[in-house]
Amino acid sequence: RQPIIAIDGPAGAGKSTVARQVANQLGLVYLDTGAMYRAITWLVLENGIDIDDECSIAELANQCKIELTPSQNIQFPVQVWINGIDVTQEIRSIEVTSKVSAIAAQNTVRKALVQQQQSWGKKGGLVAEGRDIGTHVFPDAEVKIFLTASVSERARRRQQDFTKQGQPEVSLEQLERDIAERDYKDSTRKISPLRKAADAVEVETDGLTPGEVAARIVNYYQD
Ligand code: C5P
Repeated sequence: RQPIIAIDGPAGAGKSTVARQVANQLGLVYLDTGAMYRAITWLVLENGIDIDDECSIAELANQCKIELTPSQNIQFPVQVWINGIDVTQEIRSIEVTSKVSAIAAQNTVRKALVQQQQSWGKKGGLVAEGRDIGTHVFPDAEVKIFLTASVSERARRRQQDFTKQGQPEVSLEQLERDIAERDYKDSTRKISPLRKAADAVEVETDGLTPGEVAARIVNYYQD
């Protein structure tokens, strides 16, 4: 079987950029699992469903079709579709970002998405990025990485992403608060919370470029 490389960590630790580079270098498919939770969140908001209405959300989660397709757009290298609608840009909005952790904490939502992720990983050949990949989705992954960075560094990176994506400007203080709040929700939820797997290698990325982090991960894999 082809390898699975699991990359987990808190918001803004640089997982996406690094995971994409590792996937390109090793010829594996890149899987952004956060985009899937964001897509469901977008659908919930679009349908005017209350984020506490677990029943209606469960129904959506069990019926919806999520697709991730590679794209040539450097800012949005993966196109994200839900029920045939392109939500690539919409899922990065502040509104989706502020609601996603509440929806990702719901049991049925996680079950539906994890099942999908595991079916994509049956043959391996993935660099999967998220919060519970090494602990829960692919506990047998060949390489497990836990990426971290200081909150201030992560806020700075988020601000750069926003600028590149043409999103409205948000202050660093606001971004730090948002990131800390999301990390708190993601790491204290009952079902597969954000956690470093016991056998994961922790990489602290302050002061490292994405290329340097990717090179380290490729080395771990090849060693
Ligand atoms: O990685 P990203 O910031 O896009 O993830 C958005 C949110 O999706 C996270 O804050 C978390 O609530 C949820 N998520 C998750 N499990 C994953 C990936 C993301 O719960 N594997």
